[in-house]
Amino acid sequence: MKKAGLLILLAAQLVIILAFWAWNHMNHAMGNQLTGEAVGQLLAYGRLAGLLAAFAILLQLILTGRVKWVESVFGLDRLSRLHHILGFSLVLLLVMHPVLVTIGHAKQSDSGIIAQFVDFCKNWEDVLAAAVGLGLMIFAIIVSIAIIRKHLRYETWHIIHMTFYISIALAFGHQLAVGSDFTGNRYFAGYWYALYIITFGNLIYYRIIRPLWKFNRHRFTVTGIVTESADVTSVHIGGREMASFKIKAGQFMMLRFLAKGFRWQSHPFSMSCLPDGKHLRVTIKQLGDFTRKIPDLNPGTKVIIDGPHGIFTARKCLSPNAVMIAGGIGITPIRSLAEELLQAGRNVHLIYSNRTRESIVFRRELDELAAAFPGKIKLTYVISEDPAWQGERGRLDRDKTARLVPDTKECDFYLCGPPPMMKSMRLSLLSLGVRSGKIHYERFSL
Ligand SMILES: Cc1cc2nc3c(=O)[nH]c(=O)nc-3n(C[C@H](O)[C@H](O)[C@H](O)COP(=O)(O)OP(=O)(O)OC[C@H]3O[C@@H](n4cnc5c(N)ncnc54)[C@H](O)[C@@H]3O)c2cc1C
Repeated sequence: MKKAGLLILLAAQLVIILAFWAWNHMNHAMGNQLTGEAVGQLLAYGRLAGLLAAFAILLQLILTGRVKWVESVFGLDRLSRLHHILGFSLVLLLVMHPVLVTIGHAKQSDSGIIAQFVDFCKNWEDVLAAAVGLGLMIFAIIVSIAIIRKHLRYETWHIIHMTFYISIALAFGHQLAVGSDFTGNRYFAGYWYALYIITFGNLIYYRIIRPLWKFNRHRFTVTGIVTESADVTSVHIGGREMASFKIKAGQFMMLRFLAKGFRWQSHPFSMSCLPDGKHLRVTIKQLGDFTRKIPDLNPGTKVIIDGPHGIFTARKCLSPNAVMIAGGIGITPIRSLAEELLQAGRNVHLIYSNRTRESIVFRRELDELAAAFPGKIKLTYVISEDPAWQGERGRLDRDKTARLVPDTKECDFYLCGPPPMMKSMRLSLLSLGVRSGKIHYERFSL
């Protein structure tokens, strides 16, 4: 229902923009530009490309702004994939706008295309800034292409991506100063201002004000650092009035530790224990420059928490049985979810895949959980690189899954692990006849 409402809201904005644009161009001072001469049509469609590009950029900000009323319906994972696809499609609109408008004006003034573009930059208010903004935007999009991005450090990519905000600021002026859609229609200009105010209002509220407000209320503080294995550490967090910090098992938070060497970055980590209204726990694998420093954190360190986020929760499980498949550190949301599902009376089969027995995280806790819910939970550890392991050996593939879960009916599946494993598990489950709506997963990349 909420999903339909949001999609209708989105469609309504597109209709409003198209209606204003069509009305403006049908009632243009130089006659109906939609049905008139080719030059008028070039300009009209060039302006439409600009309007749609600007709208798509605002939409992009909402998609990744961790805006609660959108994120709680679609999930950050799906929104970030949509953001990715829309980003690349945006290039077409971003390029079409200056190309069509420049050709149109060049034809109208009988000048060359380059001369017209130079004229725009020199003599038209704010157009030079917009051209610089466009260049920056296209650069940031190119840098996000997987093949280029994988050669960059996450932080380098992130800083380049953040130049999008500069580009938006640079491009904003020319829309209202020279965009004839707005200069000739104050209602459209008012609507356009409103779109920007609503978008940035949401961003500022959800990204800055809300986390700071929660910090002020709860005073989140690291209360303990626990070594779980050679490269995995749990961070326990407490604070004031914790019962009113509503987080569900399986959800994640963006954490910013207010300590030297940490405070400039916030990173996502999942809740790794059942929420008890008293404390939080995240369990972190040392993968890169930030996570490698986690064991050096000291109790007493303050933490700003943006969240909770995510829809990888027990609410998704509509069947009496849950099959939970975790790989490596992907156990973190699964650990908290398994306990919640057991408490809710579901049967759980937890299949946990690791390279070695030493890399199993929460072994003791999982075994205790099995002892606390006899007959309700089955635990299967799968180890790929330990010939002496007495249990399931090898990689978790389609055949092994089919053998471990002979009856996939009446089951919901929860997956979390390394991206290649998630991809192959999802395909395996689909090929075993599991409906995609029964497969729930959390990707550890945004
Ligand atoms: C929803 C979600 C839940 C997660 N839960 C856990 C968890 O419970 N335990 C755990 O160990 N790991 C978890 N991760 C992964 C964890 O966030 C990354 O391993 C960590 O941010 C890596 O940071 P780094 O600087 O040490 O490594 P890097 O080598 O810099 O980064 C490794 C990869 O992590 C991702 N990453 C890095 N920085 C960020 C950032 N600021 N925001 C988003 N992604 C980033 C990028 O994909 C990057 O390629 C989760 C990720 C997501 C998206």
